[in-house]
Amino acid sequence: MIVMKFGGSSVESAAAIDRVASIVQARAGQHPVVVVSAMGKTTNRLLAIADEAVAGRKNEALTQLADLEQFHLREGGSVGGKVEAHFAELAELVKGLSILGELTPRSVDAISAYGERLSSLIVADAFRRKGIDAVHQDSRDYIITDDRHTLAAPLYPETYAHLEQRLAPRAQRQIAVMGGFIGSTKAGVTSTLGRGGSDFSAAIIGAGIKAAEIQIWTDVDGMLTCDPRILPGGHRVKVISFSEAAELAYFGAKVLHPSTVLPAVEKNIPVLILNSRRPEVEGTRIISGSAPSANPVKAIACKQNITTVHIRSMRMLGAHGFLRRIFEVFDHHQTPVDMVTTSEISVSLTIDNPQRLDAIVGELSKIAEITVERDQAIICLVGDKVAHTSGIAGRVFQSLNGTNIRMISQGASLLNLSFVVAGSDLSNAVKALHTEFFAELDPAVFERAQ
Ligand code: ADP
Ligand code: ASP
Ligand code: MG
Repeated sequence: MIVMKFGGSSVESAAAIDRVASIVQARAGQHPVVVVSAMGKTTNRLLAIADEAVAGRKNEALTQLADLEQFHLREGGSVGGKVEAHFAELAELVKGLSILGELTPRSVDAISAYGERLSSLIVADAFRRKGIDAVHQDSRDYIITDDRHTLAAPLYPETYAHLEQRLAPRAQRQIAVMGGFIGSTKAGVTSTLGRGGSDFSAAIIGAGIKAAEIQIWTDVDGMLTCDPRILPGGHRVKVISFSEAAELAYFGAKVLHPSTVLPAVEKNIPVLILNSRRPEVEGTRIISGSAPSANPVKAIACKQNITTVHIRSMRMLGAHGFLRRIFEVFDHHQTPVDMVTTSEISVSLTIDNPQRLDAIVGELSKIAEITVERDQAIICLVGDKVAHTSGIAGRVFQSLNGTNIRMISQGASLLNLSFVVAGSDLSNAVKALHTEFFAELDPAVFERAQ
C-alpha cells in the first residue's frame, strides 16, 4: 500500500481531477490510499465567508457561498445532489454565525472542513466514472484528535488502531479516497489539523496503514533549491534528509507541512514530492538517513513579513533572569519567537505574528529600551553539512556584499544558517546566494533547471 496526497491546485478543476485519476490509475497495483485537499482556494474562501457572516454581512456571505457552490457543481461532475446538500448545511451554519456574531475555533473547523469533505466526495466519484474501483471514506471516522480546534493534534493510539484495523483491510481491496486536514475529537466533533494539514493527514494515514511510501503530489517538480515565488529557476533537489526537509518547511518552504515528517520518520516510511502536472519527473525523495552531497547547502528558504524586536538594557549586564523575563512576555501573549540573538546588553528576536506586538512592546518597555522593525525577512540556508563546513558564513557575507544583515544565527540543529535582511533586500539577496551556492551542482543530489 502507498499513500498518494494531492494538494489544492492538483484538484482545482475537473481537468486537474482527471489528471489525478490517470496518475492513480497507473499506480492502482500498489494499492493507493488517496488523500485530497480542498479544491483550489476553497479553504481560504470558506474562512472569508465565515468572517463575513460574523461581521454581520450575512447576504455578502451567502452570495460568496453561492459562488463557491457553483464552482463545485461546475468542476465536480455528477455528485451534484451531495454537493447541494453540503452547501445547504453550510448556508445554515453561515446564518447561525451571523446571528451569534462570534466565531469560535470549533465553528471555524465546522466550516473549513467542508472543503475536504466536498473534494473527497467529488474525487471519489470522478475516479469511479473513469472505471477506478474507488470508495469514499470519511477521514473523521479515522483521524481522532484532541479538541484544540483549528490546530488539533492526533491521538495516535486511537487513530492508528482505526487505520490499521479498518482502513488497511479495505485499502487492499479498493482505492480509498479521503479528505486531508480533517478529523474529529473523541466526542465526534469535527476538528482540523491546521493550515496545510493535508500533508500531515497523508503522513498519519501512511504510518497507520504501514504504507511502503507516501507521495505528496503538488504543482512543482519537487523540493527546489529556492522558493519559486521569490526566485524562479531553482534546481530540483533529488534527495534530501527528513531533518533537512523539516528545517526547510519550518523556515517557509511551504511545499511540505513541517509536522508531516514526524509520523513518517518514526516508521521509516520514505516520502516523495511529485508534480501532478508532470508525473514523469522523478521529484524529491525524502529519506531518513543523511543525504550526502558535495554542495553543503541543499536549499534556501525564506520567511517574509517578519517583525524584529530589539531589546536593550544595561541592567542585562551580569544579571540573571533577564532572558526569562523577556520570554515570559512573549509567552504570556502567546506569540512564538522564531530567531534569537543576544549580546551582553541586548537581545534581538523575530516574530511572525505581530497581532499582540503593541501589548508586548508596552510590557517590555518597562524593563528595557525597545525598537521594532517591520517588513523584515529571514533567509535560511539548509543542509546537514552547513555547520561543519568552514567558510560558509564568509561566502554569505561576501556574496551579500553591500546588503545590511541585521541578525545572524547558526541554528542549534546545526543544519541551518539563518539571517535577517530588510524585506526590500530579499529578492536580490536570495539571487546572490543562489548563484554563490548552486553554480556547481552535485549531480547525485540535484537536477539542474532547464
Ligand atoms: P499544495 O496545494 O499541493 O499543498 P502548496 O502550495 O502547499 O501546495 O506547496 C507548493 C508550493 O510551495 C509551490 O507552488 C511553491 O510555490 C512553494 N514553495 C516554497 N518553497 C519551495 C521550495 N523550496 N521548493 C518547492 N516549492 C516551494
Ligand atoms: N485545505 C487546507 C488548507 O488550505 C489543508 C491543505 O490544503 O493542506 O490549509
Ligand atoms: Mg500544502
